Amino acid sequence: MMMDTVKIESMTFREGVDLMVDRAALFMGLNADAVRVVKACNAVLQLKFPVKLKDRTEVINGWWAIHSAHRLPAKGGLRYSPLVCIDEVEALAALMTYKCAIADVPFGGAKGGLMINPMHYSEHDLREITRRFTIELARKDFIHPATNVPAPDMGTSSREMMWIADTYKTLFPEELNHDACVTGKPLNHGGVPGRVEATGKGLQYALQELFRHPELVEQAGLHGGLSSQRVVVQGLGNVGYHTAKSLSEDNESTIIAIIERDGVVTNDNGLNIHDVRQYFVETGGLKGFAGGKYSPNGDKALEMDCDILIPAALESQIHAGNAMEIKAKLIVEGANGPVTYEADEILRQRGVTVLPDVFANLGGVTVSYFEWTRNISHMRFGRLQRQYDAIRGQNLVSAMNELSEKKVDDELQKRLIKGASELDLVRSGLEDTMSMAFQDIREVMKQYPEVKDYRTASYILALGKIVQNYEDIGLIDIKKNI
Ligand code: NAD
Repeated sequence: MMMDTVKIESMTFREGVDLMVDRAALFMGLNADAVRVVKACNAVLQLKFPVKLKDRTEVINGWWAIHSAHRLPAKGGLRYSPLVCIDEVEALAALMTYKCAIADVPFGGAKGGLMINPMHYSEHDLREITRRFTIELARKDFIHPATNVPAPDMGTSSREMMWIADTYKTLFPEELNHDACVTGKPLNHGGVPGRVEATGKGLQYALQELFRHPELVEQAGLHGGLSSQRVVVQGLGNVGYHTAKSLSEDNESTIIAIIERDGVVTNDNGLNIHDVRQYFVETGGLKGFAGGKYSPNGDKALEMDCDILIPAALESQIHAGNAMEIKAKLIVEGANGPVTYEADEILRQRGVTVLPDVFANLGGVTVSYFEWTRNISHMRFGRLQRQYDAIRGQNLVSAMNELSEKKVDDELQKRLIKGASELDLVRSGLEDTMSMAFQDIREVMKQYPEVKDYRTASYILALGKIVQNYEDIGLIDIKKNI
């Protein structure tokens, strides 16, 4: 699939991201100096390191790219995939810079990847590779709670983050904030509730925010609420699964198709996401799933008739070769870069609405930020207030009961005296971030009425914050006309 894409596209992933910046910069009238500074990738570490596996020694290829260090730490996911290359890592690191600015989290952008197919390695070997990689990063000063903090991405999960944290702690036991060297850890290893599903939940909140504005729903050519939308999701990994699950369970949207590596399952009446996922985890594919119709042609399924398409697997899935065929009215980018620059142009001309990656999937880095602050504060969220809030709630209920003849019913009483759990606080912080980001993007669209698409508006929002930061520290002069 990737090979076809490369043939069709006339530019690389990173070049496409840079052109999206250029497009936004043009609307803003940014000078060439500013654009050059923003686009430059600050540092790329290339590694070839030997690892002794169970039955052989292998040399692993990897990269860690820091796109921007205007804010520290630089933050980004670690990907294990045979398709990883320097261009991809640089593009993904740049997206992280823009995403962090939109999410309003004080991080620079980074990304790393190892060129391995994790499905071809045992758990033992993956642990050895991850530990060795962490040592390599530490030796070169590319991992530290204050400067470089990885997170999970494609092919990695809380398990790999735990191995990284443990290796780092072994290397630097005197580092008080060692837990904060990586985010996306399991709960009992310094993780925060709500991180695993954060990106999917963020996508759900992004959609809920859009559907709060009937005029925007209508502009996108959609009708009704989220519950009446027919949704196709590509990828049943972390992002795809949690998005599909949240939308089907909480919003009652109908997930009519799930696309995976080995094909697609469809069901016009809606797939049971829990069942599909269980089947997928047990068998490693979708073929044979009883609750829907299977076809091996997953690529074609991107062109299915539906309301919302959520590509949540990998980049360049909607490209110059299939953009004309996409039937969805709204595309929500769960993955990073699933729509190429050229496809984006075509979709814009066709009037297809896109909620771009730099906004739609920023839930992951937002909750990573919560986890990082929790690690450096060494205290769980709400520890000081929870009981206090519960007592205040109890006092309120007592006062209401005394002052009124009608007693507060049990359900309301329970809600009033319940102090917020850590998960409640994380979810509320995430929802607030998605909502604020959407409003900020809408403000940009009001300020630049000629900008009609969410991607350009998102980039304008991000660039505005980043260049201001660079100007404040005296690196560029925004007013200079070049
Ligand atoms: P993951 O490894 O958990 O899931 C990826 C899924 O995509 C897997 O189930 C895989 O089998 C499937 N897949 C691979 N190739 C496919 C193909 N050709 N067609 C259909 N499905 C295919 O990874 P993830 O963490 O869910 O990340 C997915 C995307 O979301 C990536 O682009 C990643 O950068 C982006 N993202 C992830 C996070 C996060 O918090 N994990 C945050 C923001 C963005």
